[in-house]
Amino acid sequence: MLFPEISGFGLLGLVSGFSKGVETMDEQWSVETLAIQGGYRPEAAQPRVTPIVQSTTFKYDNADHMASLFDLDCFDPMYTRIGNPTWAAFEQKMAEMEGGVGALATSSGQAASTLSILNICRSGEHVVTAGTLYGGTYSLFYNTLPKMGIEVTFVDPEASIEEIKSHFRPETKVLFAETIGNPGLNVLDFEKFSAVAKEMQVPLVIDNTFGTPYLCRPFEHGADIVIHSATKYIDGHATSVGGVIVDSGRFDWSNGRYPELTEPDSSYHGLCYTEKFGNMAYIIKARVQLMRDLGTSPSPFNTFMFNHGLETLHVRMQRHCENALEVAKRLELHPKVKWVSYPGLPSHPSYERVQKYLPKGASGVLTFGIEGGVEAGRRFMESTKLIAMVVHVGDVRSCVLHPASTTHRQLSEEQQIASGVTPDLIRLSVGIENVEDIIADIDQALAKS
Ligand SMILES: *Cc1c(COP(=O)(O)O)cnc(C)c1O
Repeated sequence: MLFPEISGFGLLGLVSGFSKGVETMDEQWSVETLAIQGGYRPEAAQPRVTPIVQSTTFKYDNADHMASLFDLDCFDPMYTRIGNPTWAAFEQKMAEMEGGVGALATSSGQAASTLSILNICRSGEHVVTAGTLYGGTYSLFYNTLPKMGIEVTFVDPEASIEEIKSHFRPETKVLFAETIGNPGLNVLDFEKFSAVAKEMQVPLVIDNTFGTPYLCRPFEHGADIVIHSATKYIDGHATSVGGVIVDSGRFDWSNGRYPELTEPDSSYHGLCYTEKFGNMAYIIKARVQLMRDLGTSPSPFNTFMFNHGLETLHVRMQRHCENALEVAKRLELHPKVKWVSYPGLPSHPSYERVQKYLPKGASGVLTFGIEGGVEAGRRFMESTKLIAMVVHVGDVRSCVLHPASTTHRQLSEEQQIASGVTPDLIRLSVGIENVEDIIADIDQALAKS
């Protein structure tokens, strides 16, 4: 591995401080096998399971070695704000599962979204995004990026190519969207969005949190950068907040529009990222420049939990999808339910796109409207026993939420509707418990609402 000279306890030699990209992969494993075996390949007498390297820093014997770390000539671990062997195992596995060249773990999904934009967009520049977004991302784009001088235009993801293109400006640097809009549950028309991105010469950045690399691999559908809230299905057990950015390595940053990547960085003695790192320019810059300066770093323990969660991702996602589909079908038949939205149901407008982009299943989240509106919805949520009222999705435990009064309450009613939230909407994240138990709990709660 990368530290052959370090013997003895040997923990530091397990994996490098950074995700080094997937070119070292010799097997063409499927995503299920990568979920278990990816990222970390122990050698003789090394721990079978990725260790938690709970250390802020790493010891070196000579000044030249240390200087080479600071000059980015060497990717050995240095300081846990910018890299750590436990993160590296998780990053490497995510890059392998998504089919990218490298990844960067972050302290939250929000940090991943923020860095994915700031890495290529500065004050005075512009982002175009699908308007159907997770509430936190909407708020980042609507409130905080504009304060930093970055303007964001929200477009209807069902608009025509021509209309989406009409929102682009010379200074537009990113096209952003979610695989499955949260909580609208609209599946992205990847073909259309990637065609727009290609024509406008900007990267397509996809939030694949609901998709997961098991159900959907956006790089196969034209995305350039993928981000995740690892807090959701990747962890899967509601233990840790974190995020990750994965780079496909395919975007041409030297098209004249990304000086951040092609012009000298004075904070590294005039280093040019594209020149020095080729197709890993974006993901290495995000780490060595933004993570260094902004410090949105995950704890080694949390990345251990994400690694651990990934080992069962494919098995959990199968059950999440099966259970969600069954719950959606039963809800559709219930007299107290006005409407059900689950992209795996033939009645959902995104059903055809699920067949194309998420053939293994439409993930574990569904929404429905209850007769009696907001008040009945409130009574429903207070009456469930197995299904807990929490601010979360993607947990093995089923959970329920009323977005209009919680996650999306900071948005105006107009903004709520634009991001797919109606006042009567109840969001259910279907867990992997026995599906009949879940349905029985819903039935008894509906009887009380
Ligand atoms: C939760 C979530 C985020 C934000 O992630 P955190 O880990 O909570 O910061 C971003 N996008 C989507 C789709 C989410 O569900």
